Amino acid sequence: MKKIFIYISLLVFLFVATSCNGGGNKNKEYNKLKVLSINDLHGAIDQNDDNYGMSGISWYVNEQRKVEGQAVLVLAAGDMFQGSAISNYYYGQTVVELMNDVKFDAMTIGNHEFDWGLEEVLKYVDGNEDNYEANFPFLACNLLEKETNELPDLIDPYTIVDFEQFQVGIIGYIGVGIETDISASKVEDYYFADPVPYISNISKDLRENKGCDLIIVMGHDDNSTTQNQIAALSGSSSVDMIIAGHTHVTYTRYLTNGNGVEIPLTQAGTAADALTDTSFLYNKEDNTFGEGYADTVDLCDYEIGIDEAIQNKVDQMNDKIEPVMGEVLGIASKNVNRSSVGNWTADAILASIDCDIAAINSGGIRSSAFPINEGYSVTVKKIYEVMPFDNFIKVCDLTGSQLINIFKRIQDIHISSNLVIDGNSYYLNGALIENDKVYRFACVDYLYDRDAEIYECGTNVEFTGILVRDIMINTLKLETSNGKKWLED
Ligand SMILES: [Zn+2]
Repeated sequence: MKKIFIYISLLVFLFVATSCNGGGNKNKEYNKLKVLSINDLHGAIDQNDDNYGMSGISWYVNEQRKVEGQAVLVLAAGDMFQGSAISNYYYGQTVVELMNDVKFDAMTIGNHEFDWGLEEVLKYVDGNEDNYEANFPFLACNLLEKETNELPDLIDPYTIVDFEQFQVGIIGYIGVGIETDISASKVEDYYFADPVPYISNISKDLRENKGCDLIIVMGHDDNSTTQNQIAALSGSSSVDMIIAGHTHVTYTRYLTNGNGVEIPLTQAGTAADALTDTSFLYNKEDNTFGEGYADTVDLCDYEIGIDEAIQNKVDQMNDKIEPVMGEVLGIASKNVNRSSVGNWTADAILASIDCDIAAINSGGIRSSAFPINEGYSVTVKKIYEVMPFDNFIKVCDLTGSQLINIFKRIQDIHISSNLVIDGNSYYLNGALIENDKVYRFACVDYLYDRDAEIYECGTNVEFTGILVRDIMINTLKLETSNGKKWLED
């Protein structure tokens, strides 16, 4: 497909090169629509060896905007904010500022947009300049409030981008079932409905009543069943492109839509390591678009430049929080892996909270923060990378048999080291766990709310309001002041 893509690009280039000689209003004479998209940025605005950051993305976008006769659409398919210190510290505002600078046209809501409470990111589209505003809409046509069965006020089902010669409709949706990837308490007021009927109605309306010439569906989702159903929509409900997200995979695929046309389906990795670059040729004779030709650009394999203005802004943002983020908390005693940090964190919770036993889900410790090698100076920023989630500690009472059931069933957790399992016997602080005895159990709210057994069986529940990340930071500081290196035996 790349060959075709290059060939088409060349044709367009030649066409544009000749047609521009004629003068006229070049800004309105488009031969091509270029759709650029990223997804799952996770706050990775810095440029480094693996990620091109917002300055690299911006450079690529600008190069495309310079091409004569080319309309450019810039999209983001969700999970943009959560995941880096520079973003999390400001609840995503730094990312929104840079997305404004790059002039993104729309963004889909992802599951991680719920991590601080959805209202924390919706404030960027609430019309109140005091808490900073995004210059682009947040989309999700199937994200409904349980109470009203309606979209939250500040989320749009779609947006229309008007290029004068043609109009493009962009419909957003969030994947059905990915509610389970969100802390239950953060998503309890919402549900994600089957997006297909919504997309069908909206697409039809956009084409028949709102003058849209091309329909792009942008999902924070990578469910092939849903994607096939969307592609199968026909007549004026049909769609011309599907942009995916959530699974952090980079690909270009094609599906045949309900009108028998091949349409691109793309996803662009994560953390600004790729973007998707899709071209639709525009036929001015009959005001129609030809088939789309897509390519996913792995930025790591691409000669990519830097947008200096954006990079300066990112540097300033980093300088501003350096006094907080740059504080060295301790020194790694050895090559530290994800599992050892998970176990250490469970012990840190046990030592910091009034409880008998503590646990944390292993997914809370992010693999992207590693390796951390022996002698590494562990800063606050590094702890944000290790634990980007604002997970709070909850504590509850559980009986011994309930605890044992939970530990037998849930595999993806780290449990404090005062628990020793020997075959079928569970020992806590050296004593056999008694079935009917009540134990005080502390864990992150994500785990507590996610697991039905903890959620339903826990009594005397206490929401501590203490962030697990703060426990990690304070414990590391304390260990260092006691002359201990991080994870020293
Ligand atoms: Zn996601």
